[in-house]
Amino acid sequence: MSATSRRLETVGSANWGRGPTVLIDTYGRVATDLRVSLTDRCNLRCTYCMPEEGLQWLAKPDLLTDDEIVRLIRIAVTDLGITEVRFTGGEPLLRPGLVGIVERCAALEVRPKMSLTTNGIGLKRTAAALKAAGLDRVNVSLDTLRPDVFKTLTRRDRHHDVLDGLEAARAAGLTPVKVNAVLMPGLNDDEAPDLLAWAVEHDYEMRFIEQMPLDAQHGWKRDGMITAGDILQSLRTRFTLTPEGDAARGSAPAERWLVDGGPQRVGVIASVTRPFCRACDRTRLTADGQVRTCLFATEETDLRAALRSEAPDEEIARIWRLAMWGKKAGSGLDDPSFLQPERPMSAIGG
Ligand code: SAM
Ligand code: SF4
Repeated sequence: MSATSRRLETVGSANWGRGPTVLIDTYGRVATDLRVSLTDRCNLRCTYCMPEEGLQWLAKPDLLTDDEIVRLIRIAVTDLGITEVRFTGGEPLLRPGLVGIVERCAALEVRPKMSLTTNGIGLKRTAAALKAAGLDRVNVSLDTLRPDVFKTLTRRDRHHDVLDGLEAARAAGLTPVKVNAVLMPGLNDDEAPDLLAWAVEHDYEMRFIEQMPLDAQHGWKRDGMITAGDILQSLRTRFTLTPEGDAARGSAPAERWLVDGGPQRVGVIASVTRPFCRACDRTRLTADGQVRTCLFATEETDLRAALRSEAPDEEIARIWRLAMWGKKAGSGLDDPSFLQPERPMSAIGG
């Protein structure tokens, strides 16, 4: 029997029937982690993500409503085995209904773990309310400790707002607070050790992310990017890094190291040079209600149409399961014929 037919047999007909089941694909991977994009809009213009003038934003009627988002999350956790939900965007703090969405998801019969990826602007104002609503933790993106470099990288002079947001998140107990950084050649590629020293001092967990070909401007160049190897080499000039190993990593995209013997850690997400597709446990929902099986998928499955044609929960769950069943083995980044998806990262939900 081939591996695929064995996997098909494992899934069996129960997976397509009614009642609770899982989002499994033909490679036997089960998605338990749902990324929900709440908006494609943003108040920064990071050069690796968006052009200076912004993008053609989704029209309001095309966006899922708060009720539609909560319904899809309820179906995901009660009928599809999702255990973790990460709110993202665009900038999710720009979504007016965010606190209410979190509160309603926290009250679901099956309560998912909930986190938020944000650029941190406005977090000072909302951190306590988000915690009270039931948010567990946050990832805040900060690529540099230098306000002038921040302004060049994000095209906005808001460095202090992000630092304030980070402090507010820690004070509110949205911990562990993780800090995401993308290093760009000639801009902040010398900052890895400084960022890690600062994160250790403030009790944030630093994550370096390799730049991916998901910018709207299609400016990514494989030759120009800072790799995980470069980042680790730079960090090792100042720190002793001890690998945590695969067992501790599980299906997390970040490879983690103990910093100077621990307990602090640093993570590196090497989506390009060391892809982790074999252990992927993600499913993604865009702000306009499309399921994506992967950041790099070129196809999407429309749940919004089903929602708006009053399909019952079972039908929506069935469409979602079918979409995930078709998930490809990998991102295709290592294939010379790789095609960048049409939607940029900010519109998919990073
Ligand atoms: N606006 C929020 C933020 O910046 O945290 C959430 C959305 S953003 C798309 C999510 C994460 O994706 C951020 O950590 C950001 O740095 C990262 N990101 C955006 N474009 C990227 C790219 N081309 N390659 C790697 N990471 C990217
Ligand atoms: Fe906005 Fe996040 Fe993209 Fe930066 S990375 S432009 S903060 S969506």
